[in-house]
Amino acid sequence: MEPGEGTLGRLLVAHHVSRRAFLRFCSAMAAALALPPMYAPRIARALDVAQRVPVIWLEGQDCAGNTEGFLRASHPTVADLVLEILSVDYHETLMAPAGTAAERSRSDTVGAFPGAYIAVVEGGIPVAEGGVYCAIGGRSFRSIVEEVCGGALATIAVGTCAYDGGLPGANGGPTEAVGVSAIVPGKTIINLPGCPMNVQNLTATIVHYLTFGTFPAVDSRGRPTFAYGQLLHDQCERRAHFDAGEYVLGWGDEGHRKGWCLYKMGCKGPETFANCPTVRFNDRTSWPVKAGHGCVGCTMPRFWDQMSPFYRRLSNPPGFAVDVTADEVGLAFVGAVTGLTVIHGAASYARARRARASDEAISRPAGGPAGGPPPSGDGRPEVA
Ligand code: SF4
Repeated sequence: MEPGEGTLGRLLVAHHVSRRAFLRFCSAMAAALALPPMYAPRIARALDVAQRVPVIWLEGQDCAGNTEGFLRASHPTVADLVLEILSVDYHETLMAPAGTAAERSRSDTVGAFPGAYIAVVEGGIPVAEGGVYCAIGGRSFRSIVEEVCGGALATIAVGTCAYDGGLPGANGGPTEAVGVSAIVPGKTIINLPGCPMNVQNLTATIVHYLTFGTFPAVDSRGRPTFAYGQLLHDQCERRAHFDAGEYVLGWGDEGHRKGWCLYKMGCKGPETFANCPTVRFNDRTSWPVKAGHGCVGCTMPRFWDQMSPFYRRLSNPPGFAVDVTADEVGLAFVGAVTGLTVIHGAASYARARRARASDEAISRPAGGPAGGPPPSGDGRPEVA
């Protein structure tokens, strides 16, 4: 192999990606990872020489929505090429081989790169009845996850189902699906919950590994703090309307047409930690709230149970001035509303600080055991 062959630098040249576009991407990645701009050149140097990383992508009880996100681009961008540096040796939806040849691809990678490949898991893992509800090649998905994730450098759990069982693991589900953390506790697991996960967060996680040789710091539930460390409500473009008491009260009403706050339509943004407003989806085109629908809290533990009914408004979190209407924000109420806004802002700030402080206390670079305990508590949002 020629020097530099197979590196991301070569890949970029082959795809006619300009140096300017590449450096812009590196700056964007530094920002996404909450790193100072001075890290952009370091990211660029690391990515220039980054070698292919073997990956085994497993799918269990899933809808392939995260695979869709992985493949989303219609034209090769730098981000696509970074993802291309992942040598996906096994992926049931994408790979050409089938049957025993496919199974052999997986076991060959496990055997050839012990402790040096990345496992990506998409979908829940059923444990009821010995895992019989999901079997591949005559083996339970659970046993495949134990083998592949048990021998991996790290596992990235993409989407909510791989995080905590998601929809198949919701109350009443007969398969008793769980997330990866419950199957291989103590292993290095990076959880990227979301329905689906945002591929930008997967890209940034990979870029962090290629640059620093470690995975990003995670919170108590194994979620990278760069992506899940801030309250969604504090980053939302409709926040000014919330503070002004301007709410959508019915689909298609005047407030909805004007882009007002969706809190009273059931938006779960005030109790959700995610970076959707800043990274958005589909090449940063939009995200649910921008499109006019409330956040359903899909990055939060057991959100199908804890955040539903999705159209019922949250009970008033302390300090939130949600019963103030636009009409009431008049001169006579300026003082009171200002006070409520200050209290609200202070409460939000304190909550975010508390959440971050508790997360930071237990977060560590995911080069060592990470992922934290399986989300086996009551699954309630981590907002006080
Ligand atoms: S309640 Fe929802 S729509 Fe309103 S500001 Fe918060 S996140 Fe945005």
